[in-house]
Amino acid sequence: MANFYRTKQWKRKRSNILKRDEYQCRECKRYGKVTTATIAHHCYPLDKYPEYKLDSRTLISLCGTCHNQMHDRITDELTDKGLKWMERISPLLND
Ligand SMILES: [Zn+2]
Repeated sequence: MANFYRTKQWKRKRSNILKRDEYQCRECKRYGKVTTATIAHHCYPLDKYPEYKLDSRTLISLCGTCHNQMHDRITDELTDKGLKWMERISPLLND
């Protein structure tokens, strides 16, 4: 999957997502903070949900700090915060 992040398709998607979110971290925004986003995060982890790898509905812009809080550094699983985002956007996938 590491190669995926080097593809043209992903690079284009990533920059579209950051632009869509006005380069602001969506997690910080929930707390009324404006922080520059640098990462497009897959709310549905790429390894488990490859079908959503380029689906804008499942991608959110995050700052580096918030992104680190979405993944457990040791197990690489989503943290509670990460799982919350999965839950939060799941209604978007129902139509
Ligand atoms: Zn943030």
